[in-house]
Amino acid sequence: MVVTTNLEEIRKNMEAACKRSNRNVKDITLIAVTKYVTIERNNELLEAGIQHFGENRNEGFLEKYEAIGEKAKWHFIGTLQSRKVKDIIDKVDMIHSLDRKSLAKEINKRASKTIECFVQVNVSGEETKHGLSVEEVESFIEQIAQYDKIKVVGLMTMAPHIEDQEEIRSVFQQLAQLRNKIKDKNLAHAPCHYLSMGMSNDYKIAIEEGATHIRIGSKLVGE
Ligand SMILES: *Cc1c(COP(=O)(O)O)cnc(C)c1O
Repeated sequence: MVVTTNLEEIRKNMEAACKRSNRNVKDITLIAVTKYVTIERNNELLEAGIQHFGENRNEGFLEKYEAIGEKAKWHFIGTLQSRKVKDIIDKVDMIHSLDRKSLAKEINKRASKTIECFVQVNVSGEETKHGLSVEEVESFIEQIAQYDKIKVVGLMTMAPHIEDQEEIRSVFQQLAQLRNKIKDKNLAHAPCHYLSMGMSNDYKIAIEEGATHIRIGSKLVGE
């Protein structure tokens, strides 16, 4: 199957990137982003040993969750509308797109257990991208302390879709620095030890710069 070939290639690249940066591949979670594909592909991935899935829309997530359920871990990686939080909140394992206080408030209101969240940061400052600016992140995270069901486990970003590898690397480095700064505060509600960064085109660089969660769609499952 095409998925197993792709997976072999990705695992090889992950190993190589770890070797270059003196890291252990066990410290990196590969999230298969299945937003483009149907449930059959998720089942193939499960058979190939993938346990983490990422979806960016409620409908796609719910459809797949209904079929697969707790056989997998579910990562919500897209813009989350506050009014739709209640439909997904007790089914997702991690949310990668916490980007505003109103969303935090709604998650806190609807969740029945602690929800692990990444704060999404728009490091590159592109207008089309969601997320907080680098400058806003620290005070935002401090304000999240009032929501006792939210645990800020890390930061997430999307690098710009460009050719310049060094510019991409700089985005990941900035996120890693910010993560270190927040981690060093030892906030009870925000241990912030993870970095969700790296997609099909840039996951090797992301690993070199410290990614703990990479989110791969097209290179793994096809378009
Ligand atoms: C679609 C998507 C991905 C995967 O993108 P690919 O380039 O296909 O690997 C990763 N993260 C987010 C937030 C996405 O929306």
